[in-house]
Amino acid sequence: MVKYNNSTSHRGHNAIVPGASGCGLKEHEVAQKIHDKFRAATKAVDATDDVGKTANDNLYNIVRKMNAVGKSFHVSHHLNAFNGAANGFEVWYYAGNAQAKKLAEEICAAVCKVTGWVNRGAKATTSLYVIRASTGSAILIEWGFVDNQKDMDILAKNMDAAVNALLEVMGYTTATSSSKEEYYTKTGLYETLTDIKVYVDKDFKALSTWNIGKKGSMLWVDEVAKAGSVPRGVLLIGNKKRYVTLNKKYIKKI
Ligand SMILES: [Zn+2]
Repeated sequence: MVKYNNSTSHRGHNAIVPGASGCGLKEHEVAQKIHDKFRAATKAVDATDDVGKTANDNLYNIVRKMNAVGKSFHVSHHLNAFNGAANGFEVWYYAGNAQAKKLAEEICAAVCKVTGWVNRGAKATTSLYVIRASTGSAILIEWGFVDNQKDMDILAKNMDAAVNALLEVMGYTTATSSSKEEYYTKTGLYETLTDIKVYVDKDFKALSTWNIGKKGSMLWVDEVAKAGSVPRGVLLIGNKKRYVTLNKKYIKKI
């Protein structure tokens, strides 16, 4: 389910009035790649401006495109620059917009978790033009510092993971989220959707002689154990414990 519907996305600046640069990179070119990956998943309207000849024209054109679409979540992609040493990831939102603040905080946490970027946090503004002048809720993401080599190495290595983390926070399905295995975590009655194996141990190293996992079988799960982070169903007969998968692909809660 999409929690934060993305109505427009753009990368800041353009080739005529470029933003920051560093590490052999130009801000608007790097931001374009991120924007393309992001928009491919959200199908949002592209509010990027390629023709503005001054920084003000560029901003004005972007906001005009944002406001033609109307209310919802707009996302602006930028990269920071400072002194070569400053580093990290941050997200700006309009001061007082609680929903945008929450979204910005969630994005910071999720993206920094998968990339290892320093989390500079959610930042409130009333002055950034694309946030101040747009209808709906706009957030502006600073995807690391373009003049910091460590930040740009992180981005080069983790761009897909970083964009996917953003998408997942907003509620969009990504290659990462759709391949994630889903497990039940409750005791009770289950039906097997396929032939499943029964194991003596929760790590599934040794098979049990209990041949009770045929497709369509009803199994009572008495306990839930964990093999690492993966939940396993525990079947109790007498004082013996046996273990089965709780993967939703193979078993269904009744
Ligand atoms: Zn910028």
